[in-house]
Amino acid sequence: MIKEKESVWTSWNENIKHPFKELFFVKTEEDLQKVIREAEKVRFFGNKQSSADICAGVASLIDIREYDQILSYNDNNREITVQAGIKLQDLIEAVEAKGWCIPCLPDINTITLGGALATGTHGTSGKIMADYVVEFRVINTDGTITVISEGDELIDTYRVSLGVLGVISTVKIRCVENYTLHLHEGPEKDNVWLPRIKSDLKKYEFLRILWLPHTDTGYVIRGKKIDPETPIQENLGPAYLKHRRTASKILYKYSHKFPWITYIANNILYKAFFSSKKEHKGSLYQATVTKSRGSTIELAEWTIALDKFPQAFEELKKVINSWKNDSFIHIPMDVRFLSADKSWLSYAYKQDTVTLGCVTRNAPTADTYEAFHTIEEVFLKYGGRPHWAKRFKAKDEELNKLYPKWNEFKELRKKLDPTNKFLNGYLGKLFNEEV
Ligand SMILES: Cc1cc2nc3c(=O)[nH]c(=O)nc-3n(C[C@H](O)[C@H](O)[C@H](O)COP(=O)(O)OP(=O)(O)OC[C@H]3O[C@@H](n4cnc5c(N)ncnc54)[C@H](O)[C@@H]3O)c2cc1C
Repeated sequence: MIKEKESVWTSWNENIKHPFKELFFVKTEEDLQKVIREAEKVRFFGNKQSSADICAGVASLIDIREYDQILSYNDNNREITVQAGIKLQDLIEAVEAKGWCIPCLPDINTITLGGALATGTHGTSGKIMADYVVEFRVINTDGTITVISEGDELIDTYRVSLGVLGVISTVKIRCVENYTLHLHEGPEKDNVWLPRIKSDLKKYEFLRILWLPHTDTGYVIRGKKIDPETPIQENLGPAYLKHRRTASKILYKYSHKFPWITYIANNILYKAFFSSKKEHKGSLYQATVTKSRGSTIELAEWTIALDKFPQAFEELKKVINSWKNDSFIHIPMDVRFLSADKSWLSYAYKQDTVTLGCVTRNAPTADTYEAFHTIEEVFLKYGGRPHWAKRFKAKDEELNKLYPKWNEFKELRKKLDPTNKFLNGYLGKLFNEEV
């Protein structure tokens, strides 16, 4: 097990930095157990792509990315068991090679499975990824192992755990048979796509809206399952569409100094990159997940009960369109949908949910991006829940109002980790604990 000493941990986009005393690169479960058992305070990380300060900030760190093997398949049940450091790309490619699919994938494939599960990572038109897990093997503070399986009462606690209940060692995921989606994409005015949400969710197996703030328009992606052999009129739009992210980066370059530039930039980006229609087909992974990104971004995301979304959305729109503040928002705001589940810290705990992303493409100046505060203010008013891996300010008191099981989760955490071994400063504030 290689160890690095006395250096600085840096997140993906360099917005978060923390000194550490020792950093371990683990490859086996025994290594993981040993480091955890012996450390006084320890955090562990995957691909460091979270915008929230949830990975480091303590003396001992574990890089889990080389703990990434596929351990077994169960063909009868379409189950795959893997080590938690596996990159999503490797996991999904292995699953697709079997003719299987994890039915709700995030729009990123470079993150680790452990990082995805711990933070409630999700896609659209299904459940959060962690809901497809049927068994977790978790390492406790003293290095012992707990296995939590489908049917165990505690599994709904461990599904989204921010890595504060233990380190996820291995995971068994139950997949479904792979399927082909026939996708239509194109712009629609807000007064067209917004009232259609509920009927679209019934009619389509895939629904995602890339909302284009300051244009009154959403770029709507609807997908229906089809037989893979069904012929379609493929239309991938003009070749220059692939330059959208570069163009955005350039257009938003000075938007931190002059936020109103965003209004002009968004209207240019809308006309150039979101005004044509597309039609294509493919698997959920091949046809809908972004495979590479040229630059870093900084994110917030708020989630809200489906029934409350239209009202919260209209209020947010009013605030950001007012020009009396600097809450201009970069394109796009990702609108996605989750079905209700039972995971204690899930965004969709007991409610069908809409998620709304908020991005700045100018990551180094994210601290002054007023939109992050505005979206939080508006969504908190409607009982919105923040994405654990992204930017938000709410702490224990507010979270207790948003998550019915918050206090029970806190009690369990305290029981499993009485010395707060797994808490860094940020997580300490979140759970109202001295660290
Ligand atoms: C470009 C981009 C696109 C994104 N798209 C989506 C999306 O579509 N949907 C969505 O929901 N989110 C999305 N995210 C958020 C992303 O899924 C989370 O930030 C995820 O946690 C990143 O995984 P990671 O491997 O980088 O984890 P890290 O950021 O390294 O770690 C995240 C957390 O997981 C914990 N952790 C890591 N491994 C383990 C383990 N084995 N056991 C217990 N805890 C562990 C860490 O301690 C930390 O608290 C996106 C982020 C980016 C930057």
